[in-house]
Amino acid sequence: MSRNPRTGFKGNKASLPSKPCAVCGRPMSWRRAWAKNWEHVRYCSEACRRQAKAQRHASPGGGV
Ligand SMILES: [Zn+2]
Repeated sequence: MSRNPRTGFKGNKASLPSKPCAVCGRPMSWRRAWAKNWEHVRYCSEACRRQAKAQRHASPGGGV
């Protein structure tokens, strides 16, 4: 028996793009739902999204 190396293996997670979340820093894997706006996706979840907004909203007041 001989083994035939198959190329083009589908379902390779390593081939999928990934980037760290802007809030928690966890690597988020590419999702099909993000295919259209993958470049604009910065947060891994809605929670991080809210957190980022909250941090941005909470601006330090200069009144001591
Ligand atoms: Zn996150």
